Amino acid sequence: MGGRDNIVAKIDKGSYQLYTLEQPYPDFKKGHRIVDTGDWEKLKEQYGFRCATCGSREGEPNFHWRGTKTILQKAHKDPNKPLVAGNIIPQCQKCNRADRNRWVYDEKGRVIKLADASFVRNFDKDVIVKIYRILYKEFKGKNPKDIKNEK
Ligand SMILES: [Zn+2]
Repeated sequence: MGGRDNIVAKIDKGSYQLYTLEQPYPDFKKGHRIVDTGDWEKLKEQYGFRCATCGSREGEPNFHWRGTKTILQKAHKDPNKPLVAGNIIPQCQKCNRADRNRWVYDEKGRVIKLADASFVRNFDKDVIVKIYRILYKEFKGKNPKDIKNEK
């Protein structure tokens, strides 16, 4: 890996191309802010009627499931918060599945946080150990029962 950010894709202005799953739109207009006014049609328009995560276009075959017609759905950026203006991104029916509740997305449809702590059990052992070390240090070895959940 590495060097991925140096890839220069020739993409026509106003169009997008899937190039990695982490960064669907490397050329997403610089300084182009997504303004979620709560108007679903306007929001979809700002995304070019594409899934924020995989880039599949509404009404067209899904990028990863060619036999499936893409349907855009209102999806949570953060599934722990209500589905209201500011917390909505358009996602296709494939990206907006139940397992997405594990993740928090940014406005570009990229995963930025873990939303479901229990999903940590699915991680590889070495990652779990690293997380444990980070948290152990963070909480100075305190008993979890003595830690207040600040929320
Ligand atoms: Zn998608």
